Amino acid sequence: MNRISWDQYYMAQSHLLALRSTCERLAVGATIVRDKRIIAGGYNGAISGGTHCIDEGCYVIDNHCVRTIHAEMNAIIQCAKFGVPTAGAEIYVTHFPCLQCCKGIIQSGIKAVYYAVDYKNHPYAIELFKQAGVSVEQVELEEMIIDTKNKEKLQLLASLISRLSEAGVQEEEIKELYEQANQLFTSYT
Ligand SMILES: [Zn+2]
Ligand SMILES: [Zn+2]
Repeated sequence: MNRISWDQYYMAQSHLLALRSTCERLAVGATIVRDKRIIAGGYNGAISGGTHCIDEGCYVIDNHCVRTIHAEMNAIIQCAKFGVPTAGAEIYVTHFPCLQCCKGIIQSGIKAVYYAVDYKNHPYAIELFKQAGVSVEQVELEEMIIDTKNKEKLQLLASLISRLSEAGVQEEEIKELYEQANQLFTSYT
């Protein structure tokens, strides 16, 4: 039996949360963990009850969408809202935290940051994490756990199938391949 590691489990959770993002510029997810328990999670989006970027477009100032609260801050604020201590906790994020989130993470007492994807890694953020004794480590999500490229795979499939048809492969054969691939890519059972 292939058992999923804790790192992959938390990172997968952050990638799931990112799918809830309402900002079109970047979808980020964050999971806060303490003593191997998930204590909070967040994604980047508008304030509760606010206008979503996906409905009315991003509100961009100086090349940043100011409508949204970032995933890391949302997760930390969720802890504040419900009185859950973050001191000594760890955070799993899909992308390297921005400078503002970096400061929030440090100030909340979080001791370790695990991120999946490099994203404009700001040298000052790296320096601040170092100064504060917060360990930072890249943990890439193993694709097999959550297929974040499913849409691209289906698009590739569709273009391959149309090329087969152009190349003169029999309709029946194409239909069979299409059904097989469809089963593989879209079914979870
Ligand atoms: Zn936005
Ligand atoms: Zn941020």
